[in-house]
Amino acid sequence: MSEDPKGFNPAAIKSESMLSKSSHQKEAPIKAFGSLVFGGIELGGTKTICGIGNHDGEILVEKRIPTTNPADVLSRCVDFFEEQSVIFGDISAIGIASFGPVGLRAKFGQILRTPKEGWSNTDIVSPFREAFNVPIGFDTDVNGAALGEWRWGAAQGLDTFVYFTIGTGIGGGGMINGELMHGLSHPEMGHIPLPNLRPERFSRTARETKSELAKSSDKENALVKPFGSLSVCPFHDDCFEGLASGPAIEKRWGSKAENLDVEHSAWEVEASLIARAMRSVICTISPQRIILGGGVMEQSQLFPLIREKTLAELNNYMELPKMDEYIVPVALDGNAGILGAFILAERALKTL
Ligand code: ADP
Ligand code: ZN
Repeated sequence: MSEDPKGFNPAAIKSESMLSKSSHQKEAPIKAFGSLVFGGIELGGTKTICGIGNHDGEILVEKRIPTTNPADVLSRCVDFFEEQSVIFGDISAIGIASFGPVGLRAKFGQILRTPKEGWSNTDIVSPFREAFNVPIGFDTDVNGAALGEWRWGAAQGLDTFVYFTIGTGIGGGGMINGELMHGLSHPEMGHIPLPNLRPERFSRTARETKSELAKSSDKENALVKPFGSLSVCPFHDDCFEGLASGPAIEKRWGSKAENLDVEHSAWEVEASLIARAMRSVICTISPQRIILGGGVMEQSQLFPLIREKTLAELNNYMELPKMDEYIVPVALDGNAGILGAFILAERALKTL
């Protein structure tokens, strides 16, 4: 997992400010590396990344924009693509990987009802279709990142895998039998329920976990406290995102997740919660691998804890690969989303 994924060339990444503003921008348009160029957008709840790339996974240029209001963000992305097409040549297709919930079949290309102010029922695709008249691929941010990891990262060669981001929210996507997970709309794996750890509901394994945790009273309290009082999800008292996202960690422990010491018992509790979600996902989807990304998973000490607790949750019921190859970190760091957006663009072009 440590070697550079095939075709992915981090050295080729340039931020917009690194591009020479002098002679080379004024030259006649060039076709980047003699291949098609794609526009990609990773639309996130806090920041949006737009970039130009090619099918080899080279990010030729990228720009970060704060996700303020739709009119501002979308027009800045359109302007960026217009400017960059003078340098890199006409954009052949655009891929957009967006925070959700989004319309993938009905209401294709729209952000649906979202708690993010000003963004409900926003048509994301039309401004780009009108400005560039090229095919546009559109999917969730997590499916986009899953696509990037599938071609160049931690899911290469797999056809059924799950990608989770555990950050401000929790989202899950991936592939089943080689197809991106779509359904009525898209999965909302961040909202699967986690069994409460109240003693009367303990499973056999969880009871053992609890007796270990009981050795420390703050761990005990953190787990057994009624879930409702800890959830940050406006819809559910007991969901994965409500209990285990970055803001949930902050609510439970009174400190930003990134400021908690690696030895803090918060990580044991967090790993227990994540392991419960892993159990549900493994039993439901039978993924060949699970990739965990997002800000919270920067805490690499979580991985061995999650693997161990997931095995305990499953209680040897099913045969799994070696756990350190089964539940793994992202391989593309922060680039999976934008790389996935290029693949969405390429796929939109192919399905013309
Ligand atoms: P977003 O979900 O907004 O795209 P992130 O994936 O970085 O962005 O998630 C942000 C959340 O992750 C915040 O709640 C933050 O406290 C938490 N977070 C960010 N970095 C770390 C870190 N190094 N360790 C633990 N938690 C982190
Ligand atoms: Zn929820």
